[in-house]
Amino acid sequence: MLEKTIERILVSEEEICAKSKELGQILTAVYADKNPLMVAILKGSVPFFAELTKRIDAHIEMDFMVVSSYHGGTSSSGEVKMIKDLDTSVEGRDIVIVEDIIDTGRTLLYLKELLLHRKAKSVKIVTLVDKPEGRVVDIEADYVGFTLPNEFLVGFGLDYDEHYRNLPYIGILKEEIYQTEA
Ligand code: 5GP
Ligand code: MG
Ligand code: MG
Repeated sequence: MLEKTIERILVSEEEICAKSKELGQILTAVYADKNPLMVAILKGSVPFFAELTKRIDAHIEMDFMVVSSYHGGTSSSGEVKMIKDLDTSVEGRDIVIVEDIIDTGRTLLYLKELLLHRKAKSVKIVTLVDKPEGRVVDIEADYVGFTLPNEFLVGFGLDYDEHYRNLPYIGILKEEIYQTEA
């Protein structure tokens, strides 16, 4: 049913699983004895967070944050707002932020500066998707799943007005889906 609304699949379920396994192995080696705090940025990173963390064969802890920069639709407001903070203190800890996508970079710049200000020992960023053409601030992820062109993507956590997060792949919606909106 949802498949009918998709114009094109950019990253398949198999590719996402394989890449998550690869990134999980890298993080296993890097964080072997560090007990990092893995921070999922809700809601978009939920599917990737689940896929990635089960591939990390080391002690980790998990926590969750909600921030918002998009207010529905397909364009960014430019402002980042904290909606739900961490429950865990980050002071002296190695932090791994897990994100669905970096576009302008504003969300991750805000989060990284916040956690460093709270005296985290280190803050690294893992993102499922990077859209480097969208960048307006100077920030890069440390680990990137897929580098994709500047198009509006849905699936594997990425939403269009809160829908399509449950697609098992990353794709682009048919034009008519946006047209029936307005
Ligand atoms: P940034 O702050 O880097 O511009 O983007 C942060 C948030 O914007 C992402 O976590 C994501 O929620 C949303 N976003 C950016 N690009 C896309 C996209 O192509 N599709 C969807 N669904 N959300 C996006
Ligand atoms: Mg996000
Ligand atoms: Mg969104």
